[in-house]
Amino acid sequence: MHDSFEQALDYARNALEQMVAHNVPATPNNFMVWYTHASGREPDLSRMISILEDNNQDFTELVNGDLYMKFFTTEVEGQTLHETTNRIEEELQRILSYVGNAGDDAAKYGETLASAKGDLLGATDMSGLKSAVTKLVTDTRKMEEINQALESQLAESTDEIGQLRDDLEDMRREALTDALTGIANRKLFDMELRRHARDAMEAGEPLSLLMLDIDHFKTFNDTYGHQTGDEVLKLLANTMGKAVKGDDIPARYGGEEFAVILPLTDLDGAVHVAENIRHRITNKKLVNRATDQDLGRITVSIGAALFEFGEPLGELIKRADQALYMAKGKGRDRVVSQADLQSTELAFD
Ligand code: GH3
Ligand code: MG
Ligand code: MG
Repeated sequence: MHDSFEQALDYARNALEQMVAHNVPATPNNFMVWYTHASGREPDLSRMISILEDNNQDFTELVNGDLYMKFFTTEVEGQTLHETTNRIEEELQRILSYVGNAGDDAAKYGETLASAKGDLLGATDMSGLKSAVTKLVTDTRKMEEINQALESQLAESTDEIGQLRDDLEDMRREALTDALTGIANRKLFDMELRRHARDAMEAGEPLSLLMLDIDHFKTFNDTYGHQTGDEVLKLLANTMGKAVKGDDIPARYGGEEFAVILPLTDLDGAVHVAENIRHRITNKKLVNRATDQDLGRITVSIGAALFEFGEPLGELIKRADQALYMAKGKGRDRVVSQADLQSTELAFD
């Protein structure tokens, strides 16, 4: 997402003002943190900063470093990747060294065969022949043993590499999963949307997108606390998972916003799925299991849009977002499709 020049300037000024006020050194990393905070695009970051502010915490080097690490690096991911790559390299080195040794041994065996041939042909009596054959048998056994050792070393390496591949797969999955809700994160959403847009164009099949936002979630958090809010996010992700079918991809788009990619689905189908999600959520009575406290209900607003072949995906997301905001404007707890957007545009013409 790119900000317009004026907007970017505004965020930058705001960021610098806040950095000065908090005595935060103007390093690129710190600027990144405060610019993003000023843009309001990373609610988790902003919340953390406001907690620090509320508690009159100093923005020490440690705190600044921590904010940056937490929100702008995939340090852990990078570290594990690094280690795994190293292990693969070591393993390959090991294999190369076995194969190299085996090559030397094979060359020696070749020489043995050549000299055995000479010995056999040149043998003038029975004992000469016998010792030539004995030497050949011994050397052949040795070669067999070497081959066996090589085979078992290679088998070990194959296991080790298989393990590494599984580790990489786990890491990949983790890097693409939202830690709180367990569904696809924004990164996976972007990847999947690109993939499905390409498939849709190739197959000439429809592709739709839902954008979903919880209604008055700030009030919910303010009333019941952030942790309870987090539980609601989990429940919502779970409910979405139940409301969609196999190929559909629910994702956490950010904060309390979710998206669903709906392959092979036209706008009517998308609205249908959206209504299904909305009903399931509206009809859920929220109860805090630990305290039996009645938390009422939450509602969601959903926007639905249909992919137009060839359009930039940002346009598709924007239309779904516009429909979502129209749903908010019309009173929330409802689904609006891009068809409703167009008809209002016409009405204003
Ligand atoms: P609206 O109906 O217009 O969407 O109202 P809203 O209060 O939901 O909208 P707004 O975008 O102003 O506020 C979103 C709130 O969502 C702010 C924040 O408290 C909450 N939120 C965002 N991310 C999280 C999260 O990860 N956990 C929790 N518990 N709350 C979050
Ligand atoms: Mg929101
Ligand atoms: Mg909201």
